[in-house]
Amino acid sequence: MHVTAIIAAAGGGSRLGTGTPKQFLDLAGRSILERSVLAFADHASIADLIVALPAAAVAEPPSWFAAHRKIRCVPGGSRRQDSVANAFDAVWAESEVVLIHDAARPFVSAEVISRAIDAAAKHGAAIVAVSVADTVKQVVMRDGERVIEVTIPRESIYLAQTPQAFRRDVLARAVALGRSGVDATDEAALVEQAGHAVHVVEGDSLNVKITTEADLERARARASGAVDRTTARVGFGYDNHRLVEGRRLIIGGVEIASEKGALGHSDADVACHAAIDAILGAAGLGDIGSHFPDSDPRWEGASSLALLRQSAALLRDAGHRIENVDVVVVLERPKIAPHLTRIREGLATALGIAVERVSVKGKTNEGVDAIGRGEAIAAHAVALLARAPSS
Ligand code: MG
Repeated sequence: MHVTAIIAAAGGGSRLGTGTPKQFLDLAGRSILERSVLAFADHASIADLIVALPAAAVAEPPSWFAAHRKIRCVPGGSRRQDSVANAFDAVWAESEVVLIHDAARPFVSAEVISRAIDAAAKHGAAIVAVSVADTVKQVVMRDGERVIEVTIPRESIYLAQTPQAFRRDVLARAVALGRSGVDATDEAALVEQAGHAVHVVEGDSLNVKITTEADLERARARASGAVDRTTARVGFGYDNHRLVEGRRLIIGGVEIASEKGALGHSDADVACHAAIDAILGAAGLGDIGSHFPDSDPRWEGASSLALLRQSAALLRDAGHRIENVDVVVVLERPKIAPHLTRIREGLATALGIAVERVSVKGKTNEGVDAIGRGEAIAAHAVALLARAPSS
C-alpha cells in the first residue's frame, strides 16, 4: 500500500511573539518542522511526504530537506485547507492512503501514525483523538456572565489531533468540497460534510500542538531531555555502621580525622552506600548487597567511591540518567561541615554528574540512641533518575 503524508506547515503567523513562524522555531537543536517531518520520513509505511510551506520557504527550503529523498515541498495557501489542497494536487496517482499532519505537533509517535494508517485503509477515513478526563460543560452568556447550559457526557467527547488519514478518493471529495467554498478547521470536518463516516482511533496525550509560549517551553524541556514526569523515577537508600576505635572514618570518599571509624567489610562509607542504594533502587536494579556482596573478597577494603562509580555506570548502561542525589549523614562527632564541599565534589565525580546536582548535609542525633552516643553513623539518600535522552 502506497501511503503519502502531507505536512501542513504553511502558517506564517506566530502567536508566540517571536516574529518567526512557529514551525521554524528550535526545539533542542532541531526545528519543530524537522521533528514533525522526520516522524513521518522515518516511518516504514510512509512512501513519500509533501510539505506545504510558506511561499518564501519553498524558494529556499531548509537545508536538511536535501538529505531526505522522500520529501517534496509545495507552496501553501492562505488557509490551512488551501495548503492541504495544494499538497493534495501533488500526490502521486499510485498513492492509496493520504495522511495529513500539523507541523506544530512534533511529538507524534510511530504507533499513532500506524494506527491512523490502518484505520484509514480499513474504513476510508480516520483521525487520531484523545478522550477527556474533565467533566465537560457547555456554557452560555447570560447578563454578561458565563453560565452552564448543559453538562455533556464526557464519554461522547474526543479532542481531535493529527494525523488525520484518508483513502485517496475520500480525501479527493473533501478537497473538492473545500474548493467549492466550504470552510473547515480540519480535513475530517470536510469529509464528514461530504457524507463519509470518519472513524476515531486512539491518539496520544504527548502528541501536543504547540500553540502558546507555555507549550513551547514544555516542548523545549521535553526535547532537551529534561525530566519528564512520566518517566522520572525516585529511589531511597539507607545505611549505618558501628563506630569503633582503630578504623578510619571515610565519608563520601573523604577521610575525616576522628577517634573512631566505621566498622565494615569495605571502607564502610555510609554516604556512598546510601547513595548507591538510592540510585540502584530508583532504577529497580537491586541493592548494594546484590552487586557487591560482603562475602566476596574482591570488595574487602574496597573504596566505596569506586563502587558508586561502578553503580552509576550500570545505570547509564540501562538507559538512565541521574538528575540529582541528596544525602544526609547522621553523626554525633566530629562535625562534618568543614568537609562537605569535598564530599560533595567526590560524590558528583563518581556519579558522573555536575556538583550542583549533588547535595550532602550533616546532622547530629541530639544525643539520642546509639548514634547520639557516638557508637554508630548512618546516612540517608534520595536520587531522582530520568530516562537518558535518545540521540
Ligand atoms: Mg554499608
